[in-house]
Amino acid sequence: MPEEIAAGIYRIPVPLVGNPLKELNAYLLKGEDGNLLIDTGFRQPACREALFAGLRELGIRRGETEVLLTHLHSDHSGLAPEAAGEQTIYISEVDRLSLDDRAYRDRYWNTMEQRFREEGFPRHLMANMNETNPARSMAPPAGGHYLGLADGQILEKGGCRIQCLLMPGHTPGQMCYWLPERGILFTGDHVLFDITPNITFWPILPDALGSYLESLKKIRVFEPELTLPGHRKSGDLKTRVDQLLCHHQRRLEEALNVVKAHPGRGAYELAGHMTWKIRASSWADFPVAQKWFAVGECMSHLDHLTALGQIRREAADGKAVYYAI
Ligand SMILES: [Zn+2]
Repeated sequence: MPEEIAAGIYRIPVPLVGNPLKELNAYLLKGEDGNLLIDTGFRQPACREALFAGLRELGIRRGETEVLLTHLHSDHSGLAPEAAGEQTIYISEVDRLSLDDRAYRDRYWNTMEQRFREEGFPRHLMANMNETNPARSMAPPAGGHYLGLADGQILEKGGCRIQCLLMPGHTPGQMCYWLPERGILFTGDHVLFDITPNITFWPILPDALGSYLESLKKIRVFEPELTLPGHRKSGDLKTRVDQLLCHHQRRLEEALNVVKAHPGRGAYELAGHMTWKIRASSWADFPVAQKWFAVGECMSHLDHLTALGQIRREAADGKAVYYAI
């Protein structure tokens, strides 16, 4: 049920059943000039029920709110067209393309899959994953009135003045939303407090982790009184940013050591030598979706080490391998 966390700002918890993230935070800004819903949940019955029951409790029916998305991921965007109806769905221009342009999205997935194959991700696992991947099956359907946002743009919605801050890394168009008069910062999945945001490979972000670390430094200068993340609990922004910076520093060292110990391998094999917080007896026993995330995460660290000149990538015959320099 919705909880009022600041005057006129409500958090609606949306359960993500069977997902390690557990819960999405949807936020509703209730203003005299209209409502604004930030993020929505997967396009799936448990999310739909919780989101619309929460909105009903606040006196809002489907189509009676505009929607503001922090980024393209389907646990945030899945129900946006249903919630907004004929009203506008705002999202960064970069991420808008993935939701609003089917041809663009298909090209994107193809490039993504090609990279995973090059890195040694087995074809049969990929085929199996495509059928179950929530990024596809629970994403918003075609339709919806999307409007792209630019970095620094100001929105006056839901009784608030909102500054849009582009923070590429978790996705190419991840945005944080800053309410300067209120000292409130919505971080989406850029900064999470209970979980480390997943950083993976993106075709239009050649060094995603490098971008992410830059974006962490950019958000660190803000001094919010209240930080509202896309999942689970809140906390102190600076402390958390420092922890995340440290975490990736350690992971970069680990990835470099793995490349040194296993030269001439691709990200799929290298990921199997990194440590993961998952209960599986071996790399072979990892559930396929977790393998996909792990390999993506490993790739983003390898790409950053490559950009730093600490390792080199060699690609031949559709196979990529790495060597320490
Ligand atoms: Zn996300």
